[in-house]
Amino acid sequence: MKKRKFKSESKKLMDMMINSIYTHKEIFLREIISNASDALDKLYFRSLTDSSVGLNADDFFIRIEIDKPGRTIKVIDNGCGMTEEELDTNLGTIAKSGSLDFKEDNEAVDNVDIIGQFGVGFYSAFMVCDKVTVETKAFGSDEAFVWESEGVDGYRIGECNKDNFGTTVIMHLKEDTEDENYSKYLDNYTIQSLVKKYSDYIRHPILMDFETSKKKEDAAEGEEEYETVIETRTLNSRIPIWKKNKNEVTEEEYNNFYKDKFFDFEDPIKVIHSSVEGNVTFKSLLYIPKHAPFNYYTKEYEKGLQLYSKGVLITDKCGELLPDYFSFVKGLVDSEDLSLNISREMLQHDSQLKLIAKTVEKRIKSELEKMLKNEREKYEEFFKVFGIQLKMGCYSMYGLNKENLQDLLLFMSSEDRKYVTLAEYVDKLSEDNDKIYFATGETPEKIEMLPQFDSAKSKGVEILMLTEYVDEFVLKTIGEYKGKKFVNICDEDFDLDTDEQKAEIDKINADNADLLAEMKNAIGEAVSAVKFTNRLVNHPVCLGSEGAISLDMEKTLNAMPGNEDNKVKAKLVLEINADHPVSEKLRSLFDSDKELLGKYSKILFSEACLIAGRSIDDPVEHSRFVCDLLTK
Ligand code: ADP
Repeated sequence: MKKRKFKSESKKLMDMMINSIYTHKEIFLREIISNASDALDKLYFRSLTDSSVGLNADDFFIRIEIDKPGRTIKVIDNGCGMTEEELDTNLGTIAKSGSLDFKEDNEAVDNVDIIGQFGVGFYSAFMVCDKVTVETKAFGSDEAFVWESEGVDGYRIGECNKDNFGTTVIMHLKEDTEDENYSKYLDNYTIQSLVKKYSDYIRHPILMDFETSKKKEDAAEGEEEYETVIETRTLNSRIPIWKKNKNEVTEEEYNNFYKDKFFDFEDPIKVIHSSVEGNVTFKSLLYIPKHAPFNYYTKEYEKGLQLYSKGVLITDKCGELLPDYFSFVKGLVDSEDLSLNISREMLQHDSQLKLIAKTVEKRIKSELEKMLKNEREKYEEFFKVFGIQLKMGCYSMYGLNKENLQDLLLFMSSEDRKYVTLAEYVDKLSEDNDKIYFATGETPEKIEMLPQFDSAKSKGVEILMLTEYVDEFVLKTIGEYKGKKFVNICDEDFDLDTDEQKAEIDKINADNADLLAEMKNAIGEAVSAVKFTNRLVNHPVCLGSEGAISLDMEKTLNAMPGNEDNKVKAKLVLEINADHPVSEKLRSLFDSDKELLGKYSKILFSEACLIAGRSIDDPVEHSRFVCDLLTK
């Protein structure tokens, strides 16, 4: 037999399993049965499209055999089996290495907990075993192989004799210790109850033999004689959890099913189980995860729900069942109305499927609305993780779905940095106020530092603080909400001034037209205007923009791929606080020293850029000017 070492992460996990003090060691059985069931599904799946497999749905089984004197539990399946190579890769490395990454990133999390939460899979057998043997024969192959391991030191693979295809996992139980009674797993009834507890929904029969005594039929008249017979029982009800009534399923069962089927280590934030009858009949079991899957924001992430027809899996990821903005939802749909042999291509055009998708979407939406209304904290937790998806949904396809989604959005408000919906914002506005104010920036802290923020706040305005790049586009797409327009407090046309104040600042600008023109000239093309403003409180300057493209939109648009050669430019306006001493200085320089005025104009423009979080065009020149000032 060839000796091999475990890949490094497997070794770590193995170590964790062997030395586990986890109290729910019993989950090992669930993991081994789950693997067997997956292997059966794989082969069954193949049989649907490949008639040469020659197996029917009822041909598949899982069998548990207990050998008390030998202290072993065997879990036998007639599934797809493994080739030598598969045996090596599948049992020599951890398939879902996400588990360990998680552990390492979260050292604070008790490892005891992780074992329970994770589908730690095959290795969990080592919590109760001092040796595990796997005999397997891949379907269609003539060769069988055996894998054997006593733990961290490695494993051996060799050839073996095995008549039938499929896999047998032989678990050699550890000796009992003072604290731990491993022998209990050698009892049929313990195993039966573990199957009921953890694997009841498995679709394939889980069989086990029981010895019972039975009345002898050929006993002599008037005599009762008993004999011991072997009776094979199916341990699981085989009713999938989604086919049960809601009141028959506990929260724990829903959650366990989710973690097992959809590879999560955490309970979902919401379970949505429904049964729909009408134009289309189906049952669905949907889950909203608590956290984004590790590959959620990569191209590899594939949205979709499992699709079953009459309890039989048709496809593992049916993307047509979920709109992109709900791509985070996991779960399954089981319908009586779909043909079993439906192909992927046909699915796309299937009108029943479209109807199901519409209904599923409505259900998710109404469930989110309910959560927003009744479980605010939970909803905010959800929104922090997946809110961006809803925003993208609002904005994409030219706002086709904005009506549908806009009331699910939350924005951070300048009032205590609390989340508000647009409806909540508008409800607080007085009738004659027709604007929703917002500001954009990388973080709420940076937004609060904006000169414009101060002045808007000082006028008692509530401001939505937008920190995600899609935010401004979302508002542009929504356009108006309940008749209120969105106004960026950094936009030129943002003003809360009275007519008097406006007239006053207009006059200041008119009176200083020459000074402002001189400054604009000195700065050059970079700005489209220089103006005095009365909307700044403490800051001497700020950067504003005029026209349709704001500063943040400029940043976002230019960051989009494909726009490298075609950069858009916001029209920048340098605004100077008319009440700040710097204004006085500028006026006097205009009369006394135009060259210095030019320098100062450039410095002020650079300052405004820096405050707005932009880089400056000529940092060397800026630095020189500032040094000149310092050394004067
Ligand atoms: P997971 O099941 O989460 O992928 P495991 O560590 O439990 O991780 O199993 C690793 C892999 O070993 C499985 O993905 C599967 O490919 C293979 N495997 C385990 N048990 C069986 C089995 N009974 N039949 C066929 N393949 C199996």
